This record gives sequence, structure tokens and C-alpha cells, in this order.
Amino acid sequence: MSWRGGEALMNYRTTYQVMMSTDGHHRVTVTIEDPGGTDAALAWAKATYSRLLKANGQAELLQEESLEAPECAVHFSPMERMQGRLGPFWSCHQKNRDGSWCSYKPKGF
Ligand SMILES: [Zn+2]
Repeated sequence: MSWRGGEALMNYRTTYQVMMSTDGHHRVTVTIEDPGGTDAALAWAKATYSRLLKANGQAELLQEESLEAPECAVHFSPMERMQGRLGPFWSCHQKNRDGSWCSYKPKGF
């Protein structure tokens, strides 16, 4: 959903406050001086709030992933999170006995 007409509402001195909180309790506050702008302002607030929830969910997900670094079953060393062309993946930065890079892939990642 895209928001249009924000400038028009600003003429009525409608103010939006978005409070980001680390505990996940985000707050979107809308102060409306023009009664005609209520519906649009509420729609904006709802859309913004749901977007905040989505963004927060992703942030929490990334945090969990970084905490759960799997261990290489060959070298018993923690693996590193890499950013690949097809997305993030876990990689072991140790070499095998024959000199080749470890290609161990953890299960479930
Ligand atoms: Zn390894």
C-alpha cells in the first residue's frame, strides 16, 4: 500500500509520530487538527504500524540467526555467515588436509 496525499494533510497540520522501541512495542501517534483528514490519517497510521511490525520481525529473525552459528562437523570450529548471490549461507573457513577449502554444509540452514 502506498501513501499519497501526505503533503495535503500537512497543510492541516496533521502530525505523525513514529516511536521505535527495542522491546517491540512500537507506537504510531497521529494528531489531526482537520476532521476531514481523519480517515486518511488513520489509514496511514495502520499501514505504518504493520510495516513496523514486519520490519521488527525481520530484525529479530536476523538476530537469532547470528546467535546460532553452527559448528563445522569436520573442524569443530564455528562457521561464519556469508552473503552470497543466492542469499546468506554458512561457510567454514578452515582447509581440509588436502589443501582444499572445507565445503561442509550444516543441515537445516
Ligand atoms: Zn570445516
